[in-house]
Amino acid sequence: MRTDNVEYTSFSGWVDPPSDVRPSLAGDLTCDVAVVGGGIGGMSTALRLAERGQDVVLLEAEFCGHGASSRNAGQLAGAPGGDLQLLDLLHRKKMPGMIRLAEHAAHHVEELIEKHDIDCDYERTGNVFAAVSRGQMGRVRRVAKILRRVGAKVELGTSEELGIPSGFLGGMREKVGGIMNPGRFTLGLRSVLLRTPARVFERTKVTDVARDRDHVVITTAHGEVRADKVVLATNAYAGEWDITPPRLSVPIWVIEVETEPIDPARLAALGWTSRSGLVTQHNIMENYRLTSRGTIVFGVRRLERGRTYPLPQRKPDPALVEELAEAFARRFPALSDVAIDRAWGGWIAITPSWLPVAGQIDDATYYSIACNGHGLAQAPYVGARIADLIVDGARHEDLDELWVEEPEFPRPMMMGPLGLRAIWAVDRFNDFVNGSKRNARRGSASVV
Ligand SMILES: Cc1cc2nc3c(=O)[nH]c(=O)nc-3n(C[C@H](O)[C@H](O)[C@H](O)COP(=O)(O)OP(=O)(O)OC[C@H]3O[C@@H](n4cnc5c(N)ncnc54)[C@H](O)[C@@H]3O)c2cc1C
Repeated sequence: MRTDNVEYTSFSGWVDPPSDVRPSLAGDLTCDVAVVGGGIGGMSTALRLAERGQDVVLLEAEFCGHGASSRNAGQLAGAPGGDLQLLDLLHRKKMPGMIRLAEHAAHHVEELIEKHDIDCDYERTGNVFAAVSRGQMGRVRRVAKILRRVGAKVELGTSEELGIPSGFLGGMREKVGGIMNPGRFTLGLRSVLLRTPARVFERTKVTDVARDRDHVVITTAHGEVRADKVVLATNAYAGEWDITPPRLSVPIWVIEVETEPIDPARLAALGWTSRSGLVTQHNIMENYRLTSRGTIVFGVRRLERGRTYPLPQRKPDPALVEELAEAFARRFPALSDVAIDRAWGGWIAITPSWLPVAGQIDDATYYSIACNGHGLAQAPYVGARIADLIVDGARHEDLDELWVEEPEFPRPMMMGPLGLRAIWAVDRFNDFVNGSKRNARRGSASVV
């Protein structure tokens, strides 16, 4: 694969930043509910609150959509994130609720797209847990069994049966969900929000959230907001504040890259007839998906932990782009001459339990921060349900499994640089062994 002319961007490859960034807060004001953070989580919360007649203020440090929401792979998942075998082992009772939440979340986003006519190239393709080795196929079968037991809509098959490229052995399709241009979805949601009475202030970084007797006081550089309630929706950036529960999540940097446009006949020859997004079953996944612009977007493979706040604006490491290119050439040998055109990355929040979490810090302060890399569906849905909770005073049952009654979190395991490197090394070792076995079957001595 060619990587000699990659455009490295510190925002997203999907869209340009909006040209109509809203003015920052200048002065003091009061409101019913303030939302901090203008990703799809915060925007969906504010939208729902505005629809339900609340006087809402949303404060965003850069512009709405600046974070992970515009940068992700655009794979709308209908199943929970994380290692589902481990989750089933540790949180078996939670599984039915987690599946219900994941499926409702994906449907909620589909409804948002339809209701507001958001032009984001959404395709209801489902997504496939794709296996690159027999070992991964075994893992997929075990996960399918768990998901079927709790009522999820999944189908197992070979690559041919699932309509995915033959570089993958087969896998399991989660039928709910699909693929979209997440940048256009996020900026589309922003346009919808800006048409409501909600007051949106961009380039307005919140520096403190504190309680006085009757209000929450939210401090920014040039003004203060006094609100009856506040929702914190700052995702990976949550750790910047004293008010956030300690160890709620760790910030992790992940990247995506996009190929140059590929000749339609060559794409058709891949046999990717389902157009389903793919996630491999490595400990740290690789993801691959087609786009409506005739390219393939793919990424992750390595997790890098953020160490200092504020989290830096980063561009991808060229060495990781090279590594992704090598993996692509193995999964799509017929396209190994294609070039990577652009690369970008973003910060996600990973929780110690690998489960999404939401809850209350006190009677006026709500948070919904970590969706563990599955937030494209879950962040907007959880945000909307928190908005309903604020208005109705009653919690929707879909929030039960992720609601944290006591905001105390264990120290995250394997999330230091050494732990993350070790997980990466296990994946590479398994790739090496599987490549050797494949070559031995083909009668070749070299290792792929
Ligand atoms: C490369 C990549 C690939 C991914 N792929 C997928 C995928 O395919 N499918 C999937 O489901 N999920 C995926 N995700 C995860 C998904 O994008 C996130 O879970 C989701 O976007 C989280 O939305 P959010 O609104 O909570 O956070 P964000 O979009 O990160 O929004 C948080 C916002 O808070 C603002 N903010 C932070 N601090 C402050 C402050 N002090 N004051 C005011 N504002 C502040 C930030 O500027 C930001 O705009 C991926 C993420 C990345 C980075």
